[in-house]
Amino acid sequence: MNRPYNFSAGPAAIPEEVLQQAAGEMLDWHGSGMSVMEMSHRGKEFIAICEQAESDLRELLAVPPEFKILFMQGGGIGENAIVPLNLSRAATVDFVVTGSWSQKSRKEALRYAAEVHTAASGEASGFTTLPDPSGWQLSRGASYVHICSNETIHGVEFQELPDLKALGSDAPLVVDFSSHAASRPVDWRRVGLAFGGAQKNLGPAGVTLVVVREDLIGHALPICPSGFDYKNVAEAESRYNTPPTWAIYVMGLTFQWLKRQREGELGGIAAVQARNIAKAKLLYDAIDASAFYVNKVAMNCRSRMNVPFLLADDKLNDAFLAGAKERGLLQLKGHKSVGGMRASIYNAMPLAGVQALVDYLRDFERERA
Ligand SMILES: *Cc1c(COP(=O)(O)O)cnc(C)c1O
Repeated sequence: MNRPYNFSAGPAAIPEEVLQQAAGEMLDWHGSGMSVMEMSHRGKEFIAICEQAESDLRELLAVPPEFKILFMQGGGIGENAIVPLNLSRAATVDFVVTGSWSQKSRKEALRYAAEVHTAASGEASGFTTLPDPSGWQLSRGASYVHICSNETIHGVEFQELPDLKALGSDAPLVVDFSSHAASRPVDWRRVGLAFGGAQKNLGPAGVTLVVVREDLIGHALPICPSGFDYKNVAEAESRYNTPPTWAIYVMGLTFQWLKRQREGELGGIAAVQARNIAKAKLLYDAIDASAFYVNKVAMNCRSRMNVPFLLADDKLNDAFLAGAKERGLLQLKGHKSVGGMRASIYNAMPLAGVQALVDYLRDFERERA
């Protein structure tokens, strides 16, 4: 039986092969006689799982050796505090506000950073465009510059990361890549730290991925909880305290699935990116070709992962969602702050799922317009 296509923004769809493998290994992981959930986080089995996940991610995203990969807890919201606790060094921190998530991050930083400066904001456009980096008002001597590279709610995505050096800033770039991590390659030369909760594009809820340049570790404020001090977590190889072992394991299976992907000549993350580009094009083309559906985001910053759209008549929203569910198209309801619909088409969504949605868009319009 085919499973329905799940367009949830998060926790989101996980590749079926990964779910199958986790199910197959549920009662007895590799002859250990234990479920991964039942293992000591200090035993050799779990250490092997954790190290494998780290090295697979390092290979998949070409993470350079001067970066540490940390598996933490607390989610993206937790990192909104953990980042300033570790990196702000009682100096100014800069924020580029491009939607709900960077807005939230900025607000949380006010509690910990000595000074929070908004270098640019897309608010005047209703967060339908990204402020051009050439106009950002970056502070001199800022301890970091925060961006959210994919705004999950507003559906805007930086197609490439800003080059702060070219903008005259020496500050490290902090990137919240929660909702498009591992959807495309990362130019690590432009990054100081990237973080993301796993439940959008990497695996189950409970583990937070942090990739941080080594020189940024070891400067935590005295009030930083010891379990959230990157230095402690890095020295203990993500086992300073009990990590979310099951979530790390399933995320690791997802990294292996990503590494196996092929698209023509392309493999791994390049294949994943090519597929994501094709999926997004299929959906945006269908929305743009119709007057019945609208996506308000500027073409050059449309998210390939989260596609919000409105129906011409929002009184049809409930009928649209009910009809979608009948066809096995789940969790398309938009975020309450923007209304309408949202199709999240993360890595685990196959092209066939997007095609099924596009077919439904056409049929629903034909019936109701
Ligand atoms: C979901 C999300 C978060 C919050 O993640 P939690 O794990 O719920 O704390 C933060 N940033 C972005 C971009 C997100 O999509």
